[in-house]
Amino acid sequence: MEAAKKPTTQRGPKAETLVMKTYTLPHNLQLDHFFQAYLTVLNMMIGDIWNQIQWREKVIQGKKQKRLLPTIPRYAFKKKMREQYLEGWDYARHWVDSAIKTAFSIINSWKKNYTRGNRKRKKPVVKRPFVRVKQTLMKINGEKLRITIKPHHYATIDLSKRYFKIKGRIGEPILTPQKIHIPLETSHTQQKKPTDKIGWDSNMLSLDGFSPTPGWIKIDLKPLRTLHTTYHKKLRSINRLYSKNRNKGKKLYQKYARRCRNRVKNYLHRLAKHIATSFPAQHGFEKLEKQNMNRKHKKRWNRELNQADWRLLVSLVRGGAPVVEVSPHYTSKTCSRCGEMNKALRSQRFFRCLYCGLTIDRQLNACINIYHRMRGASPQRQWFDSLFAGGLPLMGAERRDPDELARGLNDALKPQVYVCLPLTT
Ligand SMILES: [Zn+2]
Repeated sequence: MEAAKKPTTQRGPKAETLVMKTYTLPHNLQLDHFFQAYLTVLNMMIGDIWNQIQWREKVIQGKKQKRLLPTIPRYAFKKKMREQYLEGWDYARHWVDSAIKTAFSIINSWKKNYTRGNRKRKKPVVKRPFVRVKQTLMKINGEKLRITIKPHHYATIDLSKRYFKIKGRIGEPILTPQKIHIPLETSHTQQKKPTDKIGWDSNMLSLDGFSPTPGWIKIDLKPLRTLHTTYHKKLRSINRLYSKNRNKGKKLYQKYARRCRNRVKNYLHRLAKHIATSFPAQHGFEKLEKQNMNRKHKKRWNRELNQADWRLLVSLVRGGAPVVEVSPHYTSKTCSRCGEMNKALRSQRFFRCLYCGLTIDRQLNACINIYHRMRGASPQRQWFDSLFAGGLPLMGAERRDPDELARGLNDALKPQVYVCLPLTT
């Protein structure tokens, strides 16, 4: 009996959010000829679409130059392509449809990047073999995934050793010569809607969060810094080495710059995932404003998380958890206990309030202020004292004995949660 199909109509605003997650499994199918055939056809199709692109000129605003913008051919063309490629095709017919779909999505993603100015006006070429498995080409039988290669000729992938659950809809897997990447629908409704809020403050070496529970969270960013410094040094030495051969140096430089960006991105992805899953809460970050980028703030940015990293991290966390952005003004110079401003911040590590006498780690002070702003509340001594007297050992403000203060502060200023994601190699 066929299972009833899930309605695929538009979901209302209250419906659950559906997210596809991709899982990867190795396989040992020997399908070299098939991969090669698909790759050849795919690149030919990309070429066909490329030749059908209509280019129109567009004037760039405020400049004399014009740009050529592409229009991708439509449905009628797909149909024609299908007929053409089915002739002499040895494998199941649906693979032709799969290749057409893939070719169009490659062209479309090229177009998106080209329009943004990130790609040249050059036909994309697929170099690594892969195939996209359409729904019509696969079937799950218990622990086995059966893929039709030719009519009545199947390849079977064993799913019994998988590390994930198959529940809900399966997307179109991508099959490569060694692996299969299976997109699975996961629903977010099982997760409790977070009522907690965490305010986050960014610094060069750490990301500090605060919420009454669990308290002060410190995420160590030294690995990320190490990554940046390593590549910075590498890039500088490339520039020095090739000071006479600029062209050769440029290629190498770009290669390493790209590698650096990718590794940073990869790290931020893992970090964002960790933040969203380990701390189910609404996350508050300082808003980045463009007008803030004047010289006065340049120093601040040198000290703190690189702006691009920060932007990416916030958007990645947003992908997995609710995020709010709050005004960044004076978060580090306001007392999180009494709300007074202390502009002269002398100490590097501690914020000292001249009005109420609070001495507190400056990063912790900033993220408590961000937490206040998320709630739309201003700092209140009562709230602060009840919270911190009640067991969160965060500051040494009331310690009168100077010796005890210095010694005690080190003990007292420990975050409740410490996280450090190592770099992968
Ligand atoms: Zn104060």
